[in-house]
Amino acid sequence: MTDLTGKTALVTAAAQGIGRASVLALAAAGARVIATDIDEARLEGLASDRIETRRLDVLDPAAVAALADETIDILFNCAGVVHGGTVLETSDVDLDFAWRLNVMAMVHTCQAVLPGMAARGGGSIINMSSIASSVKGVPNRFAYSVTKAAVLGLTKSIAADFVSKNIRVTAICPGTVDTPSLQERLGAGGDYEGTRAAFVARQPIGRLGTPEEIADLVVYLAGASYTTGQAHVIDGGWGI
Ligand code: NAD
Repeated sequence: MTDLTGKTALVTAAAQGIGRASVLALAAAGARVIATDIDEARLEGLASDRIETRRLDVLDPAAVAALADETIDILFNCAGVVHGGTVLETSDVDLDFAWRLNVMAMVHTCQAVLPGMAARGGGSIINMSSIASSVKGVPNRFAYSVTKAAVLGLTKSIAADFVSKNIRVTAICPGTVDTPSLQERLGAGGDYEGTRAAFVARQPIGRLGTPEEIADLVVYLAGASYTTGQAHVIDGGWGI
């Protein structure tokens, strides 16, 4: 069992879904957790003796740069956005937004915390990618897949540059996970049950993943001492 006592973790997009489940799991493993999101109202219910909640818009470079003043041992970059559509249906505006939220925000949080981690002798950065990336081609996920593939590239690059500083940088590649934003996507086309059945059918394990299952992997990677630079696939068998 991973013991994160004495460690401080910062989680982005912590108000719901995988981020929220990860905050609770990291705290249960003993860490002090700074849970951040733009949705302050939803964050409020999370606060406890181990969990501090705070507004952080990862698209605000100045707010992200201020993280350099914090002592952060574990960073879980969870924030991300899903756009639908093929390459022919994706506007420059959507691709630019996906790039800024899925990639540049992560670059900025890494730039903010890496010097402090290096000075303190190490750390763990966990980046949220997806199986829809360079791992697997998924229909109608062009902007998403381009940017989540970039997450794997930045993960490997930073891992290679900072392994000698005892900083491990890993990525998580989930299949379909039952979160509030997934519920919105299931309902968006007007055929909730049909879309849900199609999404479940993609998962050979026969069901969608839960945020708690992904959070268990976040805790493992936060404490694991012998893995870095790797994409950790957790996809209900979608990639078999
Ligand atoms: P979600 O989409 O349900 O919640 C996203 C959270 O991000 C919200 O609380 C929202 O307020 C917050 N957020 C949005 N913009 C923000 C910003 N600029 N700054 C800070 N916070 C912001 O979450 P989810 O479905 O658990 O997805 C979390 C991550 O996991 C995303 O990166 C997503 O791409 C990835 N992922 C999800 C699935 C899935 O099936 N749900 C699969 C693979 C990967």
